[in-house]
Amino acid sequence: MPRLSLTPLLLLSLLLGACAPVAPRQGLAGAEWVPSPNFEPRRANYVILHHTSNNSLERALHTLTSPERAVSSHYLIGRDGRVLQLVDEGQRAWHAGLSWWGGQTDMNSASIGIELDNNGEEPFPREQIDALLVLLADIQTRHRIPQANFLGHADVAPGRKVDPSALFPWRQLAAAGFGLWCEPPFAPAPEGFDPALGLTALGYDPARPEAAVAAFKLHFVPDDPEPLLNDDDQARLHCLLQQLAR
Ligand SMILES: [Zn+2]
Repeated sequence: MPRLSLTPLLLLSLLLGACAPVAPRQGLAGAEWVPSPNFEPRRANYVILHHTSNNSLERALHTLTSPERAVSSHYLIGRDGRVLQLVDEGQRAWHAGLSWWGGQTDMNSASIGIELDNNGEEPFPREQIDALLVLLADIQTRHRIPQANFLGHADVAPGRKVDPSALFPWRQLAAAGFGLWCEPPFAPAPEGFDPALGLTALGYDPARPEAAVAAFKLHFVPDDPEPLLNDDDQARLHCLLQQLAR
């Protein structure tokens, strides 16, 4: 009878095999399991941008990695452009919370979250935005995320969140292909245009119409925080909808 020789490598693999946890299969209990080889990990289809409301990267990092805080993001970018990754892109990070966009109610499951270290009252330094643009280009290439799906936390949680702040350079991002933007002059919105329906068509939560207007202004008209849609704002909204439809 041949003797089984336990080489260190074999021993190690036996040990690892015995210890490796087997992830339980998600699905209907009792369903017949007939596995197909045709699948891959799910991909994110949105990017949600945040500011940390902190004065230092260390402080933000502490919050985003403390079990008792139960918040996280996939990436955290420092003021100096340092990029930290905290959660695998294939996993669901906890950054968006209660959220709604275009009928999606669980943005955490559908998105990659990026926190920019910023206290909410300061401009975003060039180094930080340059690093963000490099990261977004990489994410966009790998996940094939549509241009319209680069959003702010305030967009998907209107009335609850106001990040990133009015100082965030959405126009610059859109010029690089991340997020929609319309530059004046705009053609007037057509007769009978319903701005509330327009906001919903763009993606905003119709359950909170006033908060949706404020979030729209914060993102697309940051120099006019008045939560009203004047003729110019409506023309801008109509222009954005035309871009979305392209
Ligand atoms: Zn946020």
